[in-house]
Amino acid sequence: MTYPLCDQLQTIGQRIKAAEIKYQRQAGSVHLLAVSKRHPMAAIQDARQCGQLAFGENYAQEMHEKALLTQDDDIEWHYIGPVQSNKTQLIAQHAHWVHSVDRLKIARRLSMQKPADKPAINICLQLNISHERNKSGISLDELPELAKQVAQLPNIKLRGLMAIPAPSRDFDTQRKTFAKVRKALEALNQQGYNLDTLSMGMSADMEAAIAEGATIVRIGTAIFGQRPA
Ligand SMILES: *Cc1c(COP(=O)(O)O)cnc(C)c1O
Repeated sequence: MTYPLCDQLQTIGQRIKAAEIKYQRQAGSVHLLAVSKRHPMAAIQDARQCGQLAFGENYAQEMHEKALLTQDDDIEWHYIGPVQSNKTQLIAQHAHWVHSVDRLKIARRLSMQKPADKPAINICLQLNISHERNKSGISLDELPELAKQVAQLPNIKLRGLMAIPAPSRDFDTQRKTFAKVRKALEALNQQGYNLDTLSMGMSADMEAAIAEGATIVRIGTAIFGQRPA
């Protein structure tokens, strides 16, 4: 008996492995985040049965409900959606990672609201790398100051950068955009940060992201299929 989600996860795992080899990345340096937003609990449980432990959610309330229902300490919850300040408490309660911090206020609240019995929350700063209007994320110009402020906060650990480029079907264009994110991380590290995470690459541009140093790829559709409306 085969489980469809195990097949999909295996296929993605093979795509990751092939890209690691092709672009001379260390074996195992690219981690798969299964983006389960808007999919039912059963989907998470299926993927969990196949050994997937890291899940990405975009809505604070939905992550809260799913975390309470699973009651599974081995699952790692990653919050990847826009953060409203009135939702930080809920996010801090469950998230091991928050990829989408783009304001100091949000980082401060997560730092204050982290439960005392849990480890520091891993944080990525989100870059609006394609300069899209009305999209989350900061510009490259704003990055040094925000990184400096966020790195000083207790209870959270600044790990790196996240970006969602404007969609492009062209591999070289995808790569150029991801290269900007990688260079921004390298620039911070030259200033003495010790950042190890590039959260970039989705179902349609994963290989280009891996070529440019992604350490976490966020994959939804290619694992779970189309999201319910
Ligand atoms: C939905 C979402 C994904 C997954 O996208 P797919 O195209 O379904 O792989 C990745 N990252 C973020 C921030 C998302 O909101």
